[in-house]
Amino acid sequence: SGVLEFDGWVKISIISANIMKTHVKKGYKRGSKAMDVAQKLIREHNLTREEFVELIKMADDPQVDALLADEAVRIRKEVYGTDVYTRGLIEFTNYCKNDCYYCGIRRSNPNAKRYRLTEDEILACCENGYELGFRTFVLQGGEDPYYNDDRMVDIVKKIRAGYPDCAITLSIGEKSYESYKRFREAGADRYLLRHETANDAHYRKLHPEEMSLAVRKQCLYDLKELGYQVGAGFMVGSPEQTEETLADDLVFLKELEPQMVGIGPFIPHHDTMFAEEPSGSVPLTLFLLSVIRIMLPHVLLPATTALGTADPFGREKGLQHGANVVMPNLSPVKNRKQYDLYDNKICTGEDAAECRGCLGRRVESVGFELVSDRGDFR
Ligand code: SAH
Repeated sequence: SGVLEFDGWVKISIISANIMKTHVKKGYKRGSKAMDVAQKLIREHNLTREEFVELIKMADDPQVDALLADEAVRIRKEVYGTDVYTRGLIEFTNYCKNDCYYCGIRRSNPNAKRYRLTEDEILACCENGYELGFRTFVLQGGEDPYYNDDRMVDIVKKIRAGYPDCAITLSIGEKSYESYKRFREAGADRYLLRHETANDAHYRKLHPEEMSLAVRKQCLYDLKELGYQVGAGFMVGSPEQTEETLADDLVFLKELEPQMVGIGPFIPHHDTMFAEEPSGSVPLTLFLLSVIRIMLPHVLLPATTALGTADPFGREKGLQHGANVVMPNLSPVKNRKQYDLYDNKICTGEDAAECRGCLGRRVESVGFELVSDRGDFR
């Protein structure tokens, strides 16, 4: 298969060259520094930190954006066709022992109305989701001490037994290697843990003293070692983010090589110290989706709820910039508003079937198809 892969890459390179020619033909100016860097990214699937900075500074250049978006969609179609995978998100607890400054459910927000789903409620979400065609369940929550390792293992085992054909994804924060190992042995396949920012000084500004980037990164490497399909990622436009910190994010992603990357705009939450900060830029988020697709051609890349919140057509635009995953909500409607990470979060009023239907139509409106498939990395 090495030879086949090699052929594939030759083909990709030839098509890439054709796309570049088309852009030149359309009258796109050649030789601007950012265009050179963009073309290098397309050729080599990587850049130096300095070049990433250069590229990100030109994110608002429509020519650079169009070139990268076209290439990202082309690669995405080459690897995954027009399929869009769904992940059924079950937000099962908003209790959290952490205190991330940007997050609406951080422990020191006394106004957060706390809830946790029972095991039966979680299983009912899976059952409902399965009937609707979901083959991946994502259990996401705050770092809730009630849901200790024994309870998590128990739930994962029950889902594994009930849905042998489904992928189980956990997104419950930082745990020890031993805990991750137990979840894996119980049947979890994937783990989402955004690194949030790969720049130490920036990480300090977003998190309290007791948290550290080093620990977060170690968790990601532990998860990889244990054979999880791993998702990292970051918010776009979080307070004090710069082109340089974003370049660090991209360098880190290339080094980690996660199977998934979740990015979405930062959106302020009224009960946090960042309440008055501006939201992250949608065009920059879209630009970075394209860059990440080109850097990591096979990566699973969600068009996130935050992107859909910041722009009514954000998720459609995400798909048009290289995304290939959507994560509709399977949580009970009665609790949806309580998983309140940021203000004005969309899809908190509809039930799972409505979300599934709405997203199916949205995906089709831009020429893709929502499929009932585990949607594994390939
Ligand atoms: N406790 C889990 C799940 C966190 S919630 C964990 O630590 O991984 C999932 C993601 O929501 C976070 O990783 C963060 O990137 C994002 N998020 C939190 N607050 C946000 C905000 N104000 N705007 C946009 N995204 C936010």
